[in-house]
Amino acid sequence: MKHLAILGSTGSIGVNTLDIVRQFPEEFKIISLSAGHNIELLKDQINRFRPKVVSVINQEVATNLQKSLSGLEVEILYGVEGLIQVATHPEVTQVVSAIVGAVGLIPTLSAIKTKKSIALANKEPLVMAGKIVMEEAKRNGVQILPVDSEHSAIFQSLIGHRKEDIRRLILTASGGPFLNLPISKLHEVTVKEALLHPHWEMGKKITIDSASLMNKGLEVIEAHWLFDIPIEKIVVQIHPQSVVHSMVEYIDGSIIGQMGIPDMRLPISYALSFPKRMNLKMASLDLSQVGSLTFSPPDPEKFPCLRLAYQSIEIGETMPAVLNAANEMAVNGFLEGWIKFTDIPLLIQRVMGEHEIKTARTIEDILRADQWAREKTKALIEAKAR
Ligand code: MG
Repeated sequence: MKHLAILGSTGSIGVNTLDIVRQFPEEFKIISLSAGHNIELLKDQINRFRPKVVSVINQEVATNLQKSLSGLEVEILYGVEGLIQVATHPEVTQVVSAIVGAVGLIPTLSAIKTKKSIALANKEPLVMAGKIVMEEAKRNGVQILPVDSEHSAIFQSLIGHRKEDIRRLILTASGGPFLNLPISKLHEVTVKEALLHPHWEMGKKITIDSASLMNKGLEVIEAHWLFDIPIEKIVVQIHPQSVVHSMVEYIDGSIIGQMGIPDMRLPISYALSFPKRMNLKMASLDLSQVGSLTFSPPDPEKFPCLRLAYQSIEIGETMPAVLNAANEMAVNGFLEGWIKFTDIPLLIQRVMGEHEIKTARTIEDILRADQWAREKTKALIEAKAR
């Protein structure tokens, strides 16, 4: 039986993970959970799965939650320290790292240091500190199993093959809600329109990232570290049907890909049960119903975020962390109505341009760059809003 910790239990990955746990109670036991703002859902999860430790956002929320759970034996913690306790609890064997954003970095790294197997959905630890995270995983003999559908597809397509035989990784992207919108209209799109993702149900931040293709940019960086493949060998193809989740091309010209209906329970369950597969009783993918699968290259003019992501990893060191922090702040600025959708890449480019690149040897180096970029982006947004 696997003993799980879920970082981000009320988000879409967390909820889907718990759905799998509920279906297979003989395979999994929940030891610890963490959540952000959705306390009502967290309460339901505590009542149902009876974790030993739970972490929330701050002390006030922790105190209120503790009061409302009187009679239940559960330890309520909060803040970064709480997240670390959730991730490193001695009984936990696998951590599902599903917090969105940079805040997932430290708890994920702590889990690796305490030799927990990692099911990774949180992109930012690899985007910000890929080298450090992968070295730490290697040193501790920890396997990082991808939960992101694209990386799960690549992971599955690599099995039984030699790394030296890889020609390219082909990441597919749905193209988001603005794929067919003329570039001249992009500056006037609303938050509501940007939040309408054609295929996947996800949180707000990642849905905006999908609309700007920054999500794909972050995934390219994630794939670079996860599979140790040079960035120039990773390409993106727009595939609006979201049926082929990603592919690997080998030196003989063969392309191996993974297909399936777009349901996150599929890649999550694979990361939880690898190398075995779970009988999820999913509907079959009916390809004749889908009819046709189309692929096209992304438009670099329309989606500059993708180019910025490539640039950041080519520069390396602290730059990907700066890209990520500037993006988080800019997306937030857009969601709150301070800036336009088309300001997101402009802000990121400006912040990257002003960043003095530093060697990213330690997590502190990364966090300093992250902090600098957040303050810089915030100041630029405030100047715009004035
Ligand atoms: Mg993805």
